[in-house]
Amino acid sequence: MIVNYHTHTPRCHHAVGQEREYVENAIRAGLKTLGFADHAPMVFEGDYYSNFRMTPAEIEGYVNTLLALREEYKKDINLLIGFETEYYPKYFDKYLQMISPYPIDYIIMGQHFVGNEIGARHNYQPTDSVEQLTEYVDQVLEGLSTGCFSYLAHPDMINFTGSDEAYYAPMKKLCEGAKKLDVPLELNMLGVWEGRIYPCERFFRIAGAVGNDVILGIDAHQPQRILEEDVLNRAHTLADKCGVHLVDDVRLRPLPKK
Ligand SMILES: [Zn+2]
Ligand SMILES: [Zn+2]
Repeated sequence: MIVNYHTHTPRCHHAVGQEREYVENAIRAGLKTLGFADHAPMVFEGDYYSNFRMTPAEIEGYVNTLLALREEYKKDINLLIGFETEYYPKYFDKYLQMISPYPIDYIIMGQHFVGNEIGARHNYQPTDSVEQLTEYVDQVLEGLSTGCFSYLAHPDMINFTGSDEAYYAPMKKLCEGAKKLDVPLELNMLGVWEGRIYPCERFFRIAGAVGNDVILGIDAHQPQRILEEDVLNRAHTLADKCGVHLVDDVRLRPLPKK
């Protein structure tokens, strides 16, 4: 593993450790590139508060901290500044506008809710509804078609408890759509480490058959997660078992200037 584009900071309220510790562990692990992609701030309407992401007021500190570390460690590692971003149709343009003054290298999609988050069901809650699975797939593909996302994090986050038969068609549509748009999928190592429902074998068998590019993402919320050999081995075992095409790196997509 030479790159990791999925690293958090305590600004999202559920990660720990200083940015510097993530950077130093990444250097020790031999990574060439470390990308931070903390949960992006969103501008919601009214007084809704989203508790698992930084606030708009924290962007400046996030960016400045990482710019200083990039300079300090430039001989040892390529440090990139990104966001893990939801595609919420109602707020996406405002979001792009908000981040456009900052030197953001890339965004990845991490779709935790369908709709626009407020009042919506978390994708990690179990559901056997094909309609909800289809909604998830359609919203993800609509988001990827904006051309803004460099990859799709934990594409298999939706906790669908229905049959393999019911799962197959919508998720094949997701894989084929992502492939057509040339957007790689992530095999999420936090899920491997925690034994979450993702990465999910039935999903990656489909991705393997469709021939998607798949990249490993550590999704580090603790510095010591970068980089654990046993987690890496288990991720590789799953990828091999599913016939997945693992790639070492992805093409980062520039963001539109608003
Ligand atoms: Zn997180
Ligand atoms: Zn994440």
